[in-house]
Amino acid sequence: MTRSGQPASPQGDEPPPPPGFRWPDGIRAAATFTFDVDAEAAMLSDHPRTVDHLDVVAHQRYGPRTAVPRILRLLDRRGIRATFFIPGWVAEQWPAAARSIRDAGHEIAHHGYLHESVRGMDEATEEQVLVRGLEALDTVLGVRPTGYRAPNWDLNWRTPAIVARHGFRYASNLMDADHPYRLAVGPEPGAASLIELPVHWALDDWEPYNYLPGLTGTGVILSPSVVLERWTLELEALAVEGGLFNLTNHPFVSGRASRAAVLEQLIERAQAIHGLWVATCDEIAAWTEGLDLAPVVHERPSLPAL
Ligand SMILES: [Zn+2]
Repeated sequence: MTRSGQPASPQGDEPPPPPGFRWPDGIRAAATFTFDVDAEAAMLSDHPRTVDHLDVVAHQRYGPRTAVPRILRLLDRRGIRATFFIPGWVAEQWPAAARSIRDAGHEIAHHGYLHESVRGMDEATEEQVLVRGLEALDTVLGVRPTGYRAPNWDLNWRTPAIVARHGFRYASNLMDADHPYRLAVGPEPGAASLIELPVHWALDDWEPYNYLPGLTGTGVILSPSVVLERWTLELEALAVEGGLFNLTNHPFVSGRASRAAVLEQLIERAQAIHGLWVATCDEIAAWTEGLDLAPVVHERPSLPAL
């Protein structure tokens, strides 16, 4: 930070953005605050036996029961809109919580049906899951999402094409860039494309905070002050780089009292950075879509014969 409270580049100059990329006039970088409303679905999908475990199910229910209202209050205090990725099954189980998010003016986006990993899933099943998630968000919320985030950020090589085929504007899953970009869904010339809003594990609350014995985490639960410092460093560095700070939180994780308090502090810090655009994923994707960006093609590696 400089004395004026603004992040400064060590060289005192601005790094060049990727070719063709720019932010709107007066904007130097962006931040988006996102919430994956996994509730019970993340555990039931990865560990179906936990359906018999009241303790695990209740732990996950902290999200819609207790955390969502707290998060909505803090977002309202800060006057920002966020993006909530909601599995269709969660919307069906928790319609009042899902509607409270929608009614507060936040963006609703797709996050699977029962939070299924698409790794190893056949194409027909993957498409069925996507459609079932869409139908649930439509039935419960009357929403047709423009954004898709894969559960666990797990993808296969077909996933972008399936997502594009269903008319999504953007996806938010990959970890190969600091800026939004246009992603070709396949290597063939003229392939369809999506806007990709990159993420990273270091900007996910699950790893530093979450622990369920035998299911996830190591038992080392970081202090919110440590997490705030980590995220603030990345926020300020990405502001210097002119990139996108894309934070992934889960209500059942970051909606706990002291974690929510530091999340609010982080949002305040973001709002204090001159020229930082705090926006929803869809707003950032819509802007990026209007740029003349050459699509990035991810080629599937071929393994060498041994
Ligand atoms: Zn999730």
